[in-house]
Amino acid sequence: MTDLNNRANELVADDLGFDREHLWHPYTSMTQPLPSFKVKKAFGATIELEDGRQLIDGMSSWWCAIHGYNHPELNQAVTDQLQNMSHIMFGGFTHDPAIQLGKLLLEITPPSLDKIFFADSGSVAVEVALKMAVQYWSAQGNALKTNFVTPRSGYHGDTWNAMSVCDPVTGMHQIFGSSLPNRFFVPAPKVGFYEEWDQQDIAALEETLAVHHASIAGLILEPIVQGAGGMRFYHPEYLRQAKLLCEQYDVLLIFDEIATGFGRTGKLFAWEHAQVEPDIMCIGKGLTGGYMTLSATITSKQVAETISQGEAGVFMHGPTFMANPLACAVAVKSTELLINQDWQNNIQRIETQLNRHLTPLQSLKHVADVRVLGAIGVVELTVNVDMKTLQQEFVRRGIWVRPFGKLVYVMPPYVIKDSELYILLTQLVEVVSGMEQNI
Ligand SMILES: *Cc1c(COP(=O)(O)O)cnc(C)c1O
Repeated sequence: MTDLNNRANELVADDLGFDREHLWHPYTSMTQPLPSFKVKKAFGATIELEDGRQLIDGMSSWWCAIHGYNHPELNQAVTDQLQNMSHIMFGGFTHDPAIQLGKLLLEITPPSLDKIFFADSGSVAVEVALKMAVQYWSAQGNALKTNFVTPRSGYHGDTWNAMSVCDPVTGMHQIFGSSLPNRFFVPAPKVGFYEEWDQQDIAALEETLAVHHASIAGLILEPIVQGAGGMRFYHPEYLRQAKLLCEQYDVLLIFDEIATGFGRTGKLFAWEHAQVEPDIMCIGKGLTGGYMTLSATITSKQVAETISQGEAGVFMHGPTFMANPLACAVAVKSTELLINQDWQNNIQRIETQLNRHLTPLQSLKHVADVRVLGAIGVVELTVNVDMKTLQQEFVRRGIWVRPFGKLVYVMPPYVIKDSELYILLTQLVEVVSGMEQNI
């Protein structure tokens, strides 16, 4: 028996060795990779490692797994669709999963949005949005409006043009240098969702638009919550003011709701905090409940019709896996699951617990800020964390939290039980409190 166990352990070690040697992980070195834990399965808000250890999930696999893992109804939706077809080209064909998902999305996204482009990941949805904006102006004979303005601290994905509108410092501008198009950056809106609105917050955007609007096709931003660029929550008035400026200066307003969508901030989509409708909106991540990669770029009739009346007559994009039926089928089920339950109350339940447990950390010297919005809880430290050490400590304590920079944050699956949330947060609080000696 011991021999068998040893053999099993060796195999695990072998596999991890292979992984370390040959598989890239996100944003890691291939020579000094951060350790990866091998997962056997996941269910509900639990992640089970190869060695049997169970972790309570605080990350929803980066905003995606809103209903937790291995959900019977989502599994069923995939299995059912599999009996018909897993994929069929969207050029010349259409199918029920795409049509049903389209109908559902039009019900829950801003009323002025009407035309849906299905793409395969968040970054691609952003590329599509940027291309739509440029084509919109060029279709009207305006070849000058090809650039973009965006607040700093944003994150919009890792493909070329998505990268170009990410924060120029924490983003990838230094590495990619002049190979990236030059965008107009304005200071990030101040952190302060609950604070009083300060009109100064919008001044830089106004100045940039006043000077450069002739070359600007669109303003792209993450409404209310800037995610991977700093987990910053800002005032809804910023969006109302931005909308007015976009109208004044003939600039399309693009909302990237890839992270904020599907209830995460306490509203189904973050634009609802301000009641400001964009011209183009990107969604992804939680769209399929974390089952498969799928995204959508949704725009108004006016934008779509203008593009279609241009010289090209068509919108120039068409991914191979556009509207993948398996992904659409599970997205329909995931979205129905969400909106057919009392999701607001559930998010509020999580928000209350996040506030109760995390707010006291504010008094610690090494904690710069604690902020909670919907099912997102953020502890911002005064210095960068050592991700490797911290990650291992969290795993040792049975929770899955992946900090970055100065941020230790959680955004658990909505199905997390009170008892699981209690363990997740008390363990996190203990670890953060205990860091004081090391700083
Ligand atoms: C994750 C994210 C993206 C990129 O999505 P991918 O599916 O990783 O390409 C874009 N915008 C925002 C706001 C995101 O959080």
